Amino acid sequence: MPQVRVLADNLVNKIAAGEVVERPASVVKELLENSLDAGARRLSVEVESGGKRLIRVSDDGCGMNSDDALLAFERHATSKLRGPDDLLAIATLGFRGEALPSIASVARVVLETRPSERNVGTRIEINGGKMMAVKETGCAPGTQITIRSLFYNVPARRKFLRTDTTELGHIASLVTHYALAHPECHFVLKSGSHVILDAASVSTLQDRVYQVLGRTALDDLIDIGRGTAPLPVFRSDTWFQPEAQASEPAGEITAQGFVSRPQVQKASSNGIYIFINRRLVRDRILLNAIREAYRHVLPPRAYPVVLLFLEISHREVDVNVHPQKTEVRFRHQGFVHDFVQQAIRQALVAARPVARFAGAGVGSAQEQRRAPSPPPSVPEALALETEAAPAEAFELEPARLPPRAERLPFAGPAVQVAPNSAAPAAATAKALPTAIELADLRVLGQLNNSFIIAANESGLWLIDQHVAHERVLFEGHLRARRTGRVEGQRLLTPVLVELTPGQQVLWERIRQELEENGFELDSFGPRTVAVKVAPAGIAAGAIEKLLREIFDNVEKETRQVSLQALQQQIAASVACHAAIKVNMPLGEKKMLWLLAELAQAENPATCPHGRPIVLHYGMRDILRAFKRI
Ligand code: ADP
Ligand code: MG
Repeated sequence: MPQVRVLADNLVNKIAAGEVVERPASVVKELLENSLDAGARRLSVEVESGGKRLIRVSDDGCGMNSDDALLAFERHATSKLRGPDDLLAIATLGFRGEALPSIASVARVVLETRPSERNVGTRIEINGGKMMAVKETGCAPGTQITIRSLFYNVPARRKFLRTDTTELGHIASLVTHYALAHPECHFVLKSGSHVILDAASVSTLQDRVYQVLGRTALDDLIDIGRGTAPLPVFRSDTWFQPEAQASEPAGEITAQGFVSRPQVQKASSNGIYIFINRRLVRDRILLNAIREAYRHVLPPRAYPVVLLFLEISHREVDVNVHPQKTEVRFRHQGFVHDFVQQAIRQALVAARPVARFAGAGVGSAQEQRRAPSPPPSVPEALALETEAAPAEAFELEPARLPPRAERLPFAGPAVQVAPNSAAPAAATAKALPTAIELADLRVLGQLNNSFIIAANESGLWLIDQHVAHERVLFEGHLRARRTGRVEGQRLLTPVLVELTPGQQVLWERIRQELEENGFELDSFGPRTVAVKVAPAGIAAGAIEKLLREIFDNVEKETRQVSLQALQQQIAASVACHAAIKVNMPLGEKKMLWLLAELAQAENPATCPHGRPIVLHYGMRDILRAFKRI
């Protein structure tokens, strides 16, 4: 029988580390929070290899004397809580005393710290949770923690880390957002010798947004201003502290921040950042409030960009509900939800002609829920409710069917699908006959979540949804490029892509053309580029791959690439990455939309890489196979 044993402390720490320390960015988060709690005004983060090799956070905060510095690495050692009552009103970002021991148990750590009123500082070295050395040292006032070789002793965790650039991306996004939440502090982020962020102290949130995200990003955002509401008087039926006195004065809630204009449509909620009392959280209730505010403004599976900063009395929010402190509970949950929803909704309505929202007023959450059908004046593209479609890269557009006479008859080259001699004669897929209008098709369904099954008088059709959409996007992109510049979408946080030296050289050559194609890239030092703007429809997660593909393809071409060939390459790659994927369920509306778009393509027969898009089973073949003729 297995014996029940108390786990060794060291092991317990590693388990706790699994909760607190998931990846390099979570280390950076804990260390930044410590620095902010220490009253720092200047915070600097240096990383190497996406934080896997090195993370160093330096601050000019209050520092620690040597006793405190030693204690800080004990589990549940914290200066921020005294008794259980303190838990009811946590005013600091940290409070559990778990971060430092957890981090120290899975890395090599050096802490150097000095309170400004002391002459000497303390240097502590810990490897994998083992104290290696403690000594006095001369150092600047404040604290500097250096974390090397993260997870060196936990291979299972190390294996799950992503590429350096991906991990660096997470860190950059995190530091950027902490910088947004603390405009009064100076934040610096460096990767190796490249300065990724250097945001000097400013006095307003607006200044900080401008400083960190830039003018163009600001143009896509609506400032929701600063709204305050008194919280309702305490009701004893809420979850929180049931014995609390009903006479307690009601607090206030304040919201400020930025929300994106309706034309900004993101494929995921990654652009939504919510801060409660300047703590970055992921809160279901507030995410829901945001979704409600955008109902009928964005298609159901598109997400806005939101930077929301809530201030609320510390007693009104419980932050002690999640290991990473990213979830919270509100004492007045429903009230906070409705307050946030209305603040955003009002900002959206004020930023657009009211007529477009006729019927979808600034109602409460309940009213919104009771109004399921979109108001008639909402633009169709925004109002379409669609069926299950994964969020990626599919921007909903209404089917723009021209009057019949204007529709382009199918005139692509006949694609011969080699008849397989071994296959039964029945239903051999044949080339597309010309002059068949795809827009005439009735959608019968979807096969394998990948192919649209359709029919018309001439027979049965199978359409590969990915290559069909690819073709549509390819032509659209190329057309846009040939008539000018392709519009890109600014990313909330740049995506970093590391280039080989060869690609670095190539980049100089094709940079201009990339920019004309909806990219904006900046040098990030000798090896890395930061993608700040990318063609619309490309999910943030696909940008790195897309760019690599473009470089690879151009590199493969020996010597000179003509401008025209380059443009085609780029358009083909962009189309491929933005197109609907296979294995993606599509609703009927979307299938019809896609067929209508395809029917208008110049060449609906083959994808940009030459694969067939459409297979046709002619009526005659079908009849013959059934021995009816
Ligand atoms: P917590 O933040 O939950 O208290 P940590 O393990 O993160 O727990 O930190 C333990 C203690 O170490 C903190 O309570 C604080 O007193 C001290 N500490 C950590 N980082 C710093 C820092 N950068 N400056 C000053 N004190 C710090
Ligand atoms: Mg902490």
